Amino acid sequence: MNTSSPVRLTISDLSKTYGTGSAANEVLRGITFDVHVGEFVCLVGPSGAGKTTLLRCLTRLMPSTTGQVLLDGEKLTGPSSKISIVFQEYTRSLMPWMTAEKNVALALTNRKLPRTEVRRLSREALASVGLAGSETKYPWQMSGGMQQRVAIARALITEPEVLVMDEPFASIDAQTRLELEDLTLELQRSRNMTVMLVTHDIDEAVYLSDRIVVLSKNPATVQEIVNVDLGAERDQFTTRESHRFGELRSHVLGLIRHSQEVAKAKVQQL
Ligand code: ADP
Repeated sequence: MNTSSPVRLTISDLSKTYGTGSAANEVLRGITFDVHVGEFVCLVGPSGAGKTTLLRCLTRLMPSTTGQVLLDGEKLTGPSSKISIVFQEYTRSLMPWMTAEKNVALALTNRKLPRTEVRRLSREALASVGLAGSETKYPWQMSGGMQQRVAIARALITEPEVLVMDEPFASIDAQTRLELEDLTLELQRSRNMTVMLVTHDIDEAVYLSDRIVVLSKNPATVQEIVNVDLGAERDQFTTRESHRFGELRSHVLGLIRHSQEVAKAKVQQL
C-alpha cells in the first residue's frame, strides 16, 4: 500500500480533556492525520501519552472534547460496524463459558442470520486465524496466543474496513507474538484492510507499519509521522536485521526519548 490509496479515516483536530476545572487533564491536543485504505499505521509514544485515549476517541467509544473523525468521508458519531477493535486483555474480552465458535459468533448477534450460516462464518473466521479444529474449545483450554486469535477472528467476522488494535500482543509470550504479528500482516494484506495498532514496542511498530504516528506527551500531539520504507514484504529475520530497520528504530526511539524529556521538564516547571 502507499499513501496514494484513497483516504479511509480522517482524524481532524481531536482533543480530549478528562475532568474539569482544577481537575482538568488535557491528554490530547489537535491530533490530525489521515489513514489510507489498506494502510497499516502504528501509534507509538511515551507511556501514559494518551494512545489508548486516542483509539477510544477515534473509534467513538468515547467522545472527544473537540474535533471530528471521518470514515470514508462520513462523520462518525458513534461506534461503527465498519470498525472492529481488539484489546490487549483477551481474558476479559472472551466469554469464559462460551466455546471459541460461540465467542466468534457473538459479533454476528445483531445480523439475524440463519444458525447454519453463523456456524459456517464462525468456523471460517477461526480457520483464517489458524484455529480450525479448536471450535469447541473453551478459553480456559487455550493458550494466551490462541485466545487472542479467537478475539481477532471475532473482530474479522464482520468484515470490517478498519481493524483497531490496542496493544494486542503485549500479554503474549515473545515467540507467539512474532507469529501473531505475521498473522495480522497476512490478514491485513489479503483483505486490503486498514489497520491502526497501538504498541509500546518500537521494533513491532517498525516491523508492521507503513507509517508510524509518533505522539508526544502532556498533552499528546502528533510529533512526527514516520514513513516506514521497508517495502510490503516483511520477514521476521531479514527485515529486522536490515540496516534500514535499525535506522528507523533509532529514529523513532530518539523521538520518544525527546518527548519524554520535554514532558518531564514541563512537569518540573509546574
Ligand atoms: P497510554 O495509552 O499512552 O499509556 P492513556 O490514554 O491510557 O495513555 O492515558 C493518558 C492519560 O489519560 C493518563 O494520564 C491517564 O491517567 C489519563 N486517563 C486515561 N483514561 C482516563 C479516564 N477514563 N479518566 C481520567 N483520566 C484518564
